[in-house]
Order: sequence, then structure tokens, then C-alpha cells
Amino acid sequence: MCGLFGVIGTPQAAEEIFLGLQNLQHRGQDGAGIVIADEKGLHEHHGMGLLDIAFPEDQFKQLTGALGIGHTRYGTFGGQHLHHLQPFSNRALGLSVAHNGNLVNYPALAQKIAESTTTTQGQLKTSCDSEYFRWVLTEGLSGKTTITPEDLLAVLKTIADEAVGSYSVIGFIQSLGLFAFRDPWGLRPLEMGQQFDEETQTLSYAFASESTALRFLNYAEMPAVEPGQLVVVTLDGTVHRFNFAAAHPRHCMFEWVYFARVESTLEDLSVYKARFNLGVALAQTIRESLDELPDVVVPIPETSRIAAIALAEALNIPFREVLIKNRYVNRTFILDSQAARRKAIGRKLYPVAEAIEGKRVLLVDDSIVRGNTSVRIAEMLRQCGAKAIYLSSTCPPIKQPCFYGIDFPCKEELVAGNTGLDQIHQALGVDKVIYQTMDGLKQALNQKPLCTACLDGDYPTDVSAAKAFSNVRSQQRNDHPTPALTS
Ligand code: 5GP
Ligand code: SF4
Repeated sequence: MCGLFGVIGTPQAAEEIFLGLQNLQHRGQDGAGIVIADEKGLHEHHGMGLLDIAFPEDQFKQLTGALGIGHTRYGTFGGQHLHHLQPFSNRALGLSVAHNGNLVNYPALAQKIAESTTTTQGQLKTSCDSEYFRWVLTEGLSGKTTITPEDLLAVLKTIADEAVGSYSVIGFIQSLGLFAFRDPWGLRPLEMGQQFDEETQTLSYAFASESTALRFLNYAEMPAVEPGQLVVVTLDGTVHRFNFAAAHPRHCMFEWVYFARVESTLEDLSVYKARFNLGVALAQTIRESLDELPDVVVPIPETSRIAAIALAEALNIPFREVLIKNRYVNRTFILDSQAARRKAIGRKLYPVAEAIEGKRVLLVDDSIVRGNTSVRIAEMLRQCGAKAIYLSSTCPPIKQPCFYGIDFPCKEELVAGNTGLDQIHQALGVDKVIYQTMDGLKQALNQKPLCTACLDGDYPTDVSAAKAFSNVRSQQRNDHPTPALTS
């Protein structure tokens, strides 16, 4: 998963992109990059780690220009190296591009590229699926004396024909302007905003993965980039919108459930409101599942807090914040075993023992993926003397892999993918597990057209290439183990 931020028309593009990306840091912490264009050419910097570490102050002196894009990466395909950090550029074309999502058929695309290219220059340089966009744009636009929005649209038609998966993309061409496009399913978000500077009387435009980054920089929200749409803001400030493919909206439900920031609004539905609704809907299921209501509702920080508050209010049970996150444990170790991941959860999260002893505790998590968090928390609560532990999830059981940018590409790693629902409580070491229902989820998300493939196996795209995708990704994860994940 990744965060995108791009601007045109602002004198301090690099600084704005940095601040925009800081508001999208939750979407990726492996590393970040910013590429800016001015009349002298492209200026870029990429660095590993959180933005504050990746971008030392002195780097901004060389990032001059009013047109640029930035990317913050959480690798879900490709290795963990500096040269995998986006944006990816082509200096000769004055092109730079950054992608959020995953291409399910990337292994086949990469093979096709390798076979069709005779020069070393034309070969892919990384194992990252996002590089496909640099390649296809370079192929389609090289050799043109002037590049027009229509030229870009022609390349988009090629992309729509051959790329399968999720792609929210931003980029620029130095001689043309800023652009953004989104796959026909709109799986990952892509928002747009504009700002008028009274002092300089100039209008600038920005694209961002989430609205919170736009709002932070005082960009007024405009209609988002629609599924199957290409938006180009040319250097003269004109906005062009084209539909390059028929839209079949299927937004990723997990953005509202877990991924996006609670202050963001996606597809006109506030993440806060969605999480509140999820809590209210879950309360109903809990009422039907338990003979006796628990003593306290305890959120598993951070994501589930809003849902847990709504749920506690609906059930009229005390809400108690008694799992405490150690805010100074920032470093995520490279963890290659389940046991190591579980131990790491204990370093970050610790219970208030006296508030738990003798209580029947209802834990609320946003979702249960591998189950590591739940197992470790259940162990800790038992040690504190909890009388009973019920675990509730604001998301229905995650049983199938995701090939669209959330990093669980293999069914084997999903606790609900391998264990019968009536046995999950044993696997997680709790007395009962209560999941959100599919109806509850859909209602909470205002009946939006959703991707729910990891819940029900109904994938919006062709997934015949998914096996090859999962194999490559598993190999990459063995070579470069993923950092520990907690919400
Ligand atoms: P678990 O320990 O069950 O794998 O995960 C617990 C928490 O981490 C949940 O809040 C879940 O949303 C989050 N989480 C687990 N795995 C992933 C992952 O691969 N990607 C993301 N983005 N979140 C995850
Ligand atoms: Fe989101 Fe699940 Fe669809 Fe992946 S499979 S895009 S996590 S809803």
C-alpha cells in the first residue's frame, strides 16, 4: 500500500508534497521519494524510512520547481531497496510517475516486456510492478515532439487493455503538466483539490490518495478522479477529464475499515462515519450472539477506537481504553516468524491489569487478518486475570487473499482462511469470536459498490494470473520479510 501526492502551480511544490505525504505516512513507511520539475529539468530525492528520516532539511534546496509528485511506500510487490522507491522517472521525456495498487498480471507483463525489448535501456530495472507505468508511458510517448493530453489518453487505452489489478497513479510530464488516473474499478482512492493564492493570484491543483492531505494544505476538494478516468492539468492551468475505460466501481472496503485515516472522506463517505456505523452494526450482532453482555468494551488501538465507542454506546456498556500503546516504540523490526511478530505486538501494546482483573472483556478490533495481534492480546489479558475474553471484529472474516495492494496475498496466512469459524476462538485463545456480518458491513458503508473479494471471493478483475502473482510475492517476502503490522 502506498500514499500519493502531486501538485502543479505552487512555488513550493517540494515542501507541499512533503507535508502532503506526511499526512499519508500511514499508507507506507518503508521509504519515500519526491520528484520536481523546473526549467532546468528533474530534481529528485528518495530515502528509506519515515519521511522525517528520508528527507533531511538540506534536500529541499535542490528540489526547486512548481510541478512535482511524491510517493510513500509500503511494499506489497518488489523488494525493499532504495531503487524500488518511487516516483520512477524518465529524464529524457521529463516524465515521472508513482503508483498505488498492485498489478495481478505483472509477472506476465514483465515477461512480455522482456521479450519485446532488445535494448538494455528498454528493460525493466526493478522487480516492482509499478515500474510498468514508467515503461508503458515511455514506450507510448517517446519520439513525439510535443506531448498532448490526447497522447496520454492513447497510452491509457493500452494500459486498460493489458493491465489487470488496482492502479491509482499520479505523474507529470515536464512539457505538459500534471496527470492522474485510476483503474476502472476505483479500487484505491485518488482525490483532487484546488487552491487560489490571493497573494500571487495563482491557482494550483493537487492530487492525493486521501482528502485529509488536501485539507491540511488548504486545497478545496474537487470531484475525485473517477474509476476509469484520466485527469490532466496542463501547464496553463486547464483541467481535462477523459474516460479511458468504462467504469465498474468496486472500492476496497478495507480502506474504510482499516487503512484510511479517520479524518479522510472517500467517495463522499467519511471514514469516521463509516467506522461509527460499523460499531453500531456490530453491536446488533453482539447482542444476538452473547447470552450475557460483557462488563467492558476495550478497543484494540488505534483503528478500532471509533467503532468501539459507537458499539459501547449502543450496548450501554462502559468503554475502557485499557490496552495502551507505547508511542515511543516506533521501530518496526524485520520479523520473519509468527512467534517474533507476536512478541513484537507485546512491545507496542500493554494492558492495564487492574482494570481487567475479574472482568468479562469485549475486545474490538477493526479486522482479524493473521490473528497474531489477537493471540498475543488474549495471552496478556489472561495473565491480567480476565474472567472471559470475547473478540469482535468490525470486518467480516477475511478468508481469501488480496491481490490489489493489501499485503495478504496467500490464503494460508489468513486465520479465517484455514480455520473453521466455529474453531477460530480456539486458534486465537479467546472464549468467543464475533464478526461483523456482510449486511452490517454493506449498510455501514452506505451500500457503496465495494470490493469484498477477501471476504467472499468475488474478485472484480480476472484473477487467473493470481497464482503466479502470489508465488512471486511469497518469494519476495521470504527474501525481504515484511515489518510487523499492528493497527
Ligand atoms: P492480525 O494480527 O490479525 O494479522 O492483524 C491485526 C491488525 O493489523 C488488524 O487491525 C489489521 O487490520 C492489521 N493488519 C494485519 N495484516 C495486515 C496487512 O497485511 N496489511 C495491513 N494493511 N494491515 C494489516
Ligand atoms: Fe480490499 Fe479485500 Fe478487495 Fe483487497 S480483496 S481490494 S483488501 S476488499
